[in-house]
Amino acid sequence: MALIGVQEGSEMELDLRFEAVHEGILVSGSVDVEVVGECGRCLDPLRYGSSVDVQELFYYDAPELAEDEEEDAQRLVENDAIDLEPVLRDAVVTSLPFQPVCREDCQGLCAECGARLEDDPGHQHEVLDPRWAALSGLAGAAATPEAAEPDVKTESDKREES
Ligand SMILES: [Zn+2]
Ligand SMILES: [Zn+2]
Repeated sequence: MALIGVQEGSEMELDLRFEAVHEGILVSGSVDVEVVGECGRCLDPLRYGSSVDVQELFYYDAPELAEDEEEDAQRLVENDAIDLEPVLRDAVVTSLPFQPVCREDCQGLCAECGARLEDDPGHQHEVLDPRWAALSGLAGAAATPEAAEPDVKTESDKREES
C-alpha cells in the first residue's frame, strides 16, 4: 500500500474557472481533497484536507511541439469536451509529500525496538560503540578461567613408553 494518497471514491471539491483563450480553454482554480495515509516515521494514521492548485490549458489544436516537449504532456479539447480527470490526478499526486509525517517534529520509532519515542522521551538503549564492543570481547576472554593444564607428559612417562 502506498504511504499516502486519496481514497478512491472520496469526495473532491472543485473550484475551477474556465476561460476561452485564443488557443483553447484555460482551466484554473483549486481542488480540495482528503488525503489519507500513514506517517512515514511513527506509522500513525494520517488524514488531512489538502487544497491543490490546478492550471491547465486545453488546446483546440495540437500545437507545434518543440524538440524537447512530449506529446502526452498536452491536453486537447476533444469533441467539444475536456477530460479533467488526468489533470486533477496529476495535480493531486504531485502535491503529495514524499515523506508524509504526522507532524514536522514527529520523533518516529526507536530503530532498536520499535517503541514510539514520543511516548517515552528518555528512551534509549545501551548501545556499545563497536570499538568498545571489541575490547569487551577481549576482556571477556581474559576473564574466562584458564584452559585446563595441557596434558604434558613427564620425562619419566616418556621413558616408560619408549
Ligand atoms: Zn509520526
Ligand atoms: Zn527502543
